[in-house]
Amino acid sequence: MTIYPAHYINGQWAKAQSAETLPVHDSSTEEVMATVPAGTAQEAERAVLAARAAFEGWSTLPVETRAAYLDKVAAGLKARSDEMAMAIAREVGMPLKMAKTVQVGGPTWHWGNFAKVARNFEWEKKVGNSLVVREAIGVVGCITPWNFPLSQITLKIAPALVAGCTVVLKPSEIAPVNAMILAEIIHEAGLPPGVFNLVNGMGPVVGEVLATHAEVDMVSFTGSTRAGKRVSELASQSVKRVALELGGKSASVILADADFEAAVKGTISACMLNSGQTCSAHTRMLVPASRYDEVKALAKIAIAKFSIGPSLDETSRLGPLVSANQRERVLGFIRTGIAEGADVIAGGADAPAMDKGYFVQPTILGIKSTDTLAREEIFGPVLVVIPYKDEEEAVAIANSTIYGLGGGVWSGSDEHAMKVARRIRTGQVDINGGPFNGNAPFGGYKQSGNGRENGVYGFEEFLEFKSLQLQPAAVA
Ligand code: NAD
Repeated sequence: MTIYPAHYINGQWAKAQSAETLPVHDSSTEEVMATVPAGTAQEAERAVLAARAAFEGWSTLPVETRAAYLDKVAAGLKARSDEMAMAIAREVGMPLKMAKTVQVGGPTWHWGNFAKVARNFEWEKKVGNSLVVREAIGVVGCITPWNFPLSQITLKIAPALVAGCTVVLKPSEIAPVNAMILAEIIHEAGLPPGVFNLVNGMGPVVGEVLATHAEVDMVSFTGSTRAGKRVSELASQSVKRVALELGGKSASVILADADFEAAVKGTISACMLNSGQTCSAHTRMLVPASRYDEVKALAKIAIAKFSIGPSLDETSRLGPLVSANQRERVLGFIRTGIAEGADVIAGGADAPAMDKGYFVQPTILGIKSTDTLAREEIFGPVLVVIPYKDEEEAVAIANSTIYGLGGGVWSGSDEHAMKVARRIRTGQVDINGGPFNGNAPFGGYKQSGNGRENGVYGFEEFLEFKSLQLQPAAVA
């Protein structure tokens, strides 16, 4: 077990004020694998003030200097990728091999990519008699969840830092080990003191200081819609910029002319990644009512390949859920679905044959569009199949939740799929299983959030505009 006794404030490991610690569980074994200190409001404030003091010096460095620091962090992550993947596989539960690619490879790429984005960015532009300059917004409070923890941290702090912002990170209290390793890497990269700070702890204590403090200019939050609303309310008191990446209930719409085998298989994969603990998971599969039985048969075949097992076991395709709480929450939803009359196509609420670990059987339920499970984000390995009568109804069902994060459309023709995709009110739609693109904007419509992450879109979130009005002669 690793005991982390300190936070990272003003370029140093700062011994925690309080003796209270937060346990981190290995989700496959349920053992406590690490502890981090429960940060206090005073520690959060110290970190904010350190970030404020560092801001002017950092934001006025040449872009190339800041970009070079990001490259160093990317190299540090690469050097420690095995250790990082092991930590995330244990604290989150994603099978190790996949964790290495998705949970570590992705973020490592983003650190290097944000350095490139900043180098190629047009920082100033003449508009009539004005020079429009882009400047860092200031001190950014970053609050992140546990499901893709390093990725969610990276998509905030890498663009913020290279933009010239200084940051205070409060990582998830459930999966903070990756953040501690990252802080060690950032320390070794030699960033000036105060530019990057990390305070562990609970959302209502440390997170709320970041959301309220007058010296924080922006809060960037990823997590549940419930906590995101609270952060927005608090941040409004000091008129901070707020970026929110929240929940989802994304639909995969299978049109009648689709390749059903590929579509059902692709949807199940897009649902089950990380045991369904993915905000943009395709958790509703919308299918023509007349083809329901065919879909059911295909779904049974495809789901059988998702063998569950401990995250460090090479044969596991699906790991456990992150915590006992999460498992109970997900089982509660499965029971609700069954009580409302769901057709159990695969899985269910019975415990799988594992003697430890927070496992839930991969589950597929046939339901009606009016059922509870058609609306609520489950955040577990549960796919619902909803029949529709025609395309109009498919689009209406796809748009019928409070969320608007992702989704997919499957059709024999990309054009047909895109026509339907344009009517879906979400931030991204995968056409016939088109893969994730780290330079395309990622984020939500409606209650899935505000703002975008990834590439230049995610970078610009951390910038202000300033217009310098010149005498026309000076511009000519
Ligand atoms: P959560 O909202 O419980 O916690 C997220 C973070 O917010 C944690 O660091 C937590 O400590 C903090 N927090 C909680 N209450 C707070 C408060 N009052 N003030 C300030 N901070 C507070 O979410 P979670 O359980 O960690 O993550 C799962 C949720 O995150 C799901 O709803 C999922 O859809 C969402 N999510 C969204 C995206 C996205 O990009 N849209 C990505 C991943 C996860």
